[in-house]
Amino acid sequence: MTTIELESRYTSGVYPKRDVAIVRGEGARVWDEEGRAYIDCVGGHGVAIVGHCNPAVVAAIQRQAETLITCPEVFYSDVRAKLLERLLSIAPAGLERAYLCNSGTESVEAALKLARLCTGRSEIVAMKRGFHGRTMGALSATWEPKYREPFMPLVPGFTHVTYGDLDALSAAVNDETAAVLLEVVQGEGGVNVGSGDYLRGVQALCAERGALLIVDEVQTGFGRTGKLFACQHHDLRPDLLCLAKGMAGGVPMGAVLIGSRVGELASGVHGSTFGGNPLACAAALAAIDYMLAHDLPGEAAEKGARFMQRLAGIETRLIREVRGLGLMVGIDLRKRVTPYLRALMDEGVLALPAGSTVLRLLPPLVISDDELDTVYRAVEKVLTA
Ligand SMILES: *Cc1c(COP(=O)(O)O)cnc(C)c1O
Repeated sequence: MTTIELESRYTSGVYPKRDVAIVRGEGARVWDEEGRAYIDCVGGHGVAIVGHCNPAVVAAIQRQAETLITCPEVFYSDVRAKLLERLLSIAPAGLERAYLCNSGTESVEAALKLARLCTGRSEIVAMKRGFHGRTMGALSATWEPKYREPFMPLVPGFTHVTYGDLDALSAAVNDETAAVLLEVVQGEGGVNVGSGDYLRGVQALCAERGALLIVDEVQTGFGRTGKLFACQHHDLRPDLLCLAKGMAGGVPMGAVLIGSRVGELASGVHGSTFGGNPLACAAALAAIDYMLAHDLPGEAAEKGARFMQRLAGIETRLIREVRGLGLMVGIDLRKRVTPYLRALMDEGVLALPAGSTVLRLLPPLVISDDELDTVYRAVEKVLTA
């Protein structure tokens, strides 16, 4: 049996799969079983920020694997202590502590619980087109009806308002609102870039009404948008900041960074068996040090701006809009995106959808100018064919 036949036979079936078996990766490229190379603008759904098999991350994992793989948070850990220190030293202003977990949805789940706990309020206002994950709490905050409806009833107390509409938010936030939850750039919802005025307005409204501000940077965090954290484009000071995806160089890891308004947390209120796992901590420390040493946020800002400018110059009726921030790029089409993703794959470029019409590119931030040029030419070819 081939890999594809074997996996198809036993996998759950919950993923829409493409007909390719990826066996190896290096930098911005991956290879399939036949030895064919692709430039990877899926990037593990935005995870491969420092590139596939980044040598610094590989070495850190090898060292830690020989030393200690598991150590729950009821004990202290040398590598965890170092990661926490590093993480908080680079965090947006006002964030002082961190809770470590294993995925994006878990970081959102933790933030929702902490917001309820510390405010004594139960309601959450989230955004239309927002995406926060698939576990019950995070799913309740996620807007897309096709993800939600099969699983009703969800957690009570969630409402969704139009992203970018401060009046709608003002009408929704009241003295039962524990937190407002949003992304700085909506990823899955179509690469919708929030404006600084709007986001600062949301922050001011939260402060005025006694609600916490939870910013979900699971996708935008760690340099993707051209700043280490997208909050830093607008001087936002979230009370809870959700992170995951690129945090640990491809190893599953998430975190919630916690601001002073959250207050002291009692032991036992939340936890995770794998949270703060030493192997993941070592990988994250190496990945973060690599991002800083190679100024990956600066690379993303510069490469992303040039790339989007070129994309915006493609002359075709098919493109409604090119938008994004840094190397988080969306091309909104007047048609469904799926056939174009397939055509791009034939050209040796992997890309992903965001909603039904947006072609989304989340390349590793280490992608070279030549590779990005190849991506551009492939995109131009398939969209003008
Ligand atoms: C991917 C994503 C999540 C969910 O992360 P998982 O690791 O898949 O649970 C949550 N929020 C945002 C903004 C995301 O992009």
